[in-house]
Amino acid sequence: MLNIALFGPPGAGKGTQAEFLINRYKLIYISTGELLRQEIAAKSYLGLQAEKIIVSGGLVSDEIIVQLIEKSITDNPKANGFLFDGFPRTWVQAYILEGLMIKLNTSLTCLINLKLPVEESIARLMKRGETSGRSDDNESVIRTRLSEYYEKTLPIQQFFQGRGVYHEIDAGQNVEAVNRSVSEIIQTIVSKRLFNIVLFGYPGSGRGTQAEHLAEKFGLEYVATGKMLQQEIKNETELGEQIGDLYESGQLVPDEIVVKLIEKKLENHNNIRGFIFKGFPRTFVQAYILDGLLKKHHSRVSQIIELKVPTIELINRLNARSKTENCMPYDRSTARIVKRLQEHEEKTVPVVDKYKHNRRVIRIDGRGSFEEVAARTVAEVEQGMRNLF
Ligand code: AMP
Repeated sequence: MLNIALFGPPGAGKGTQAEFLINRYKLIYISTGELLRQEIAAKSYLGLQAEKIIVSGGLVSDEIIVQLIEKSITDNPKANGFLFDGFPRTWVQAYILEGLMIKLNTSLTCLINLKLPVEESIARLMKRGETSGRSDDNESVIRTRLSEYYEKTLPIQQFFQGRGVYHEIDAGQNVEAVNRSVSEIIQTIVSKRLFNIVLFGYPGSGRGTQAEHLAEKFGLEYVATGKMLQQEIKNETELGEQIGDLYESGQLVPDEIVVKLIEKKLENHNNIRGFIFKGFPRTFVQAYILDGLLKKHHSRVSQIIELKVPTIELINRLNARSKTENCMPYDRSTARIVKRLQEHEEKTVPVVDKYKHNRRVIRIDGRGSFEEVAARTVAEVEQGMRNLF
């Protein structure tokens, strides 16, 4: 997720920058000021409580703010990320934000302080007051709002500095220049993030070939547990000996063993755009393990793709492969092929279904030539990389 908080005195241009950011990164916009104005317009209990304070230029209680924010967040469980405007405004709210992010299993990506001198804030707000229709855009209220900002809000920049997510820019520049500075900050953060794909599909669906192609094209590290296990057997390692029989018969290898291999692979990466996993996760347990392993690298599963090929075609493909030199030990007989397909259906298909409950799983038609399928997978990954942030 990409979670951004825009920070800065009233009049710094948070609303203007927010508009650009929510469109560019498809974020859910949460402006506490806007939410409060809606409550006031609706004459709700919350609105009535907040109105007097807003008109005077003071800060509404943290208790009210937490209710507003929580609702906006829980209403959007599938969000790409959130953009906070005018929140957090107090030290307590900084903790509230942190707690909400933890609840969503994410964190604040950055807090950007749009710095502006006091006199410039006043001049801008007075000008805005000519057309905004906001009762708090008049000089005496503006001064109260600013003193609230400098007294209660500005100090919380320390909170975020301490967490390594604080950035600041000069908001006195023109809108386009501020926009460029904001984009640069976000792009720098995003480019350091890993883009991780999980590629699902039945044995014979072409996962391996497609995954290798995607890995090469997008600079991803290819993580294929089957291949890694095969290597262990070939090298006659201790692990290889333990798993030889299981592997040959097409059964799943115990999680403890697979996890160690994956862990090693994730630790030893460098200079890559992300990972592409094939053949993992294969079970519910492994799906949890993957989340945990990626979290350790401040990352997560970015895209889930499922290659769909009709069963008859799968059998034909695996059968054909068994007659070539690419024959895998587990493709050697029809009985083994069927066993593998069954194993996949029983253990891995439910994992894909589980992902479908809370994540978008992209279905790709796996029929046709390698090039045809590759064109489809590449298009989806390009789109995913563009959309994600
Ligand atoms: P804004 O639209 O962000 O300038 O907010 C307008 C007014 O709403 C502020 O002056 C406060 O009275 C109130 N308000 C908005 N957000 C908060 C918040 N996070 N905490 C306390 N009061 C807020």
